[in-house]
Amino acid sequence: MGGLCPLKFVLFVSLASVLVPGAWGWSKEGHIMTCRIAQSLLEPDAAHAVENLLPQHVNGDLSALCVWPDQVRHWYRYRWTSPLHFIDTPDDACTYEFSRDCHDTHGKKNMCIVGAIRNFTSQLLHYREGSSDRRHNMTEALLFLSHFMGDVHQPMHVGFTSDEGGNTIELRWFRHKSNLHHVWDREIILTALADYYDKDTELLLQDIVANFTDGVWHDDVSSWKDCDNLMKCPNKYATESINMACKWGYKGVTPGETLADDYFNSRMPIVMKRIAQGGIRLAMFLNRIFSDSDEEFAAAT
Ligand SMILES: [Zn+2]
Repeated sequence: MGGLCPLKFVLFVSLASVLVPGAWGWSKEGHIMTCRIAQSLLEPDAAHAVENLLPQHVNGDLSALCVWPDQVRHWYRYRWTSPLHFIDTPDDACTYEFSRDCHDTHGKKNMCIVGAIRNFTSQLLHYREGSSDRRHNMTEALLFLSHFMGDVHQPMHVGFTSDEGGNTIELRWFRHKSNLHHVWDREIILTALADYYDKDTELLLQDIVANFTDGVWHDDVSSWKDCDNLMKCPNKYATESINMACKWGYKGVTPGETLADDYFNSRMPIVMKRIAQGGIRLAMFLNRIFSDSDEEFAAAT
């Protein structure tokens, strides 16, 4: 049986939060909002499958475990997943190509976010035929897919190789030390929460949802969801990210400088939009993976 019997799992989660102080990746809040949006958009088949796969202690709340892959990535058992959280692209190229870029530092193919999304998507497509013991691995597949759909939308997770997606670009965020990757992972979201939302993630989430239900992004949603082939669409999301990393992440940033209001005000809307896109696309994936029709299964096998 896999590593996710409920008891062991509770232990994993609680221990992980003690041992790993700052979670990596789209900050905790970014992942939580992405998964909250996705779960609210699930159709009955997918909603039921997700509920069935989640361990009991989260009471059907997917977002409670969307950060889990960040918490275990340095554990021996999950160390292999560590390269799956990002994509290194050639410095200054501002492009992404699956065959060129989707590998780990040893050149092992498919070891990047897009490879991970494809892998866990095809695992989940076997859900309906699964025996009960296989479903434990399906739980992990669901959590990984949900997490990586968030990561692929964080622009700096598809960044340049030599600066590790901005991780080695040290600078100040207002008055404290940070780095460019971290600014996009956490700082922008935390500053927005503190300045505009009374530190309440729920209020920020409501604003994001309002923007795509009847606000500025309403007309874009159908194009965001547009996807002919679940195995190929993640490449599009990664390309969007590196394009944004170049246009909004790296642009005009000098190592050692202080980023403040100008940077925050112009980038905040982009961060919100990426969270919305990640959530809407995760829902689209899950709805198609768990739908009763056999279309996706036939296309992927
Ligand atoms: Zn991550």
